[in-house]
Amino acid sequence: MTQTIPVELPYADGDFYAFEALLSDKERDRLHEVRDWLDANVRPIAVECWNRAEFPHGLVPRLAELDVVSPIRRQGHSNLLAGLLHAEFTRADASIATFMGVHDGLFTGSLELLASHEQQEEWLPDVYSLRKIGAFGLTEPLGGSDVAGGTRTTARREGSNWVLNGAKRWIGNATFSDWIVVFARDVDDDQVKAFLVDTSLEGYSATKIENKISLRTVQNADVTLENVVVPHEFKLAHGNSFRDTNRVLKVTRLSVAWQAVGLQMAAFDVARRYAVERMQFGRPIASFQLVQDQLVTMLGNMVSSLGLMVRLSQLEEAGRARDEQSALAKAYTTARMRESVALGRGILGGNGIVTDYGMAKVFADAEAVFSYEGTHEINTLVTGRAITGISAIV
Ligand SMILES: Cc1cc2nc3c(=O)[nH]c(=O)nc-3n(C[C@H](O)[C@H](O)[C@H](O)COP(=O)(O)OP(=O)(O)OC[C@H]3O[C@@H](n4cnc5c(N)ncnc54)[C@H](O)[C@@H]3O)c2cc1C
Repeated sequence: MTQTIPVELPYADGDFYAFEALLSDKERDRLHEVRDWLDANVRPIAVECWNRAEFPHGLVPRLAELDVVSPIRRQGHSNLLAGLLHAEFTRADASIATFMGVHDGLFTGSLELLASHEQQEEWLPDVYSLRKIGAFGLTEPLGGSDVAGGTRTTARREGSNWVLNGAKRWIGNATFSDWIVVFARDVDDDQVKAFLVDTSLEGYSATKIENKISLRTVQNADVTLENVVVPHEFKLAHGNSFRDTNRVLKVTRLSVAWQAVGLQMAAFDVARRYAVERMQFGRPIASFQLVQDQLVTMLGNMVSSLGLMVRLSQLEEAGRARDEQSALAKAYTTARMRESVALGRGILGGNGIVTDYGMAKVFADAEAVFSYEGTHEINTLVTGRAITGISAIV
């Protein structure tokens, strides 16, 4: 028996419940414009950059032309469009999405939320236009999940300057960024404060973390700060405690949940296409009931994650989103993502473990997304604390 392989798949864009219909016509056009741009500019180079663990610096001026930094605050787009754009970036390549997540979400977000109006006027134009690239330095070699209470990097006020000392780990973009927001504990009042540090300052160094198995295109670094002198004007005016830092993390945690949606879209795209084209026993493997069950599980995971994120973006827009809602979204979508990328990897059989077929990179990238911006366990415990009133974190 032979089966016809469909050239054009039903629900080609994967939008099974028509979530895009919630966007205005103008915003839907923008989503499609960015999707086409990613198809033309990112997909063709993504696997090669990942294999070589090299960042495509030539992409930055083209990203600047696309004008995608700060879609909500600066461009006035809805939270839903911003989320769908981030998912779309991730669907094309999770590393480039993470580059943007660090520059736009963590770094620019810190300036937008914690800098004074005057500081923003001075710094943001270069940041929005990608003339200056940013990084975000919170995690430390000895401080990961407990970095809130455990920041060891210190800041000491000396006249009109601050002197920073310490080490940061995992800092995305930091091997080439122009600026980095550093969180350091003020030795006088023990509070964690935020500083904009020019990476050309004496005493600052960043060393690339080699041999990653996930998000290989992202340049993560070990950063050291040895008596780095930062003028007081570069202390972020409203970054005065870890509570302030948390205002940034609450928003960026949400965008990582959107990445989990994007990786599920990518896994579904690749696995479904492969399943209808790959012939075994004289028919496409998509004709076997067990394979259809796996594809439908992946679809269900993807749309339930998307539905959750659509509602959360509405709550965020209304100013009603709570920390624990972002935490559950990150924990839930990344768990669904991990199940789906494993199913997709299996559907490709042996070809699922080589990057040439599009699935191995998705499978491996999911591991970093599972752990950063609060691990699955920490986000679960943040949610558990909210529904029981009892903290199991410490
Ligand atoms: C690719 C990548 C990019 C990153 N980019 C940045 C960046 O740009 N800037 C930045 O500041 N950071 C960045 N990070 C750091 C990231 O946020 C941390 O890796 C994350 O917060 C976890 O910290 P950790 O790796 O030290 O793990 P740990 O905190 O050591 O955790 C190890 C394990 O113990 C578990 N655990 C810890 N405490 C508890 C508890 N109380 N209860 C139950 N389980 C617990 C964790 O869930 C995890 O499974 C990045 C990380 C990666 C992998």
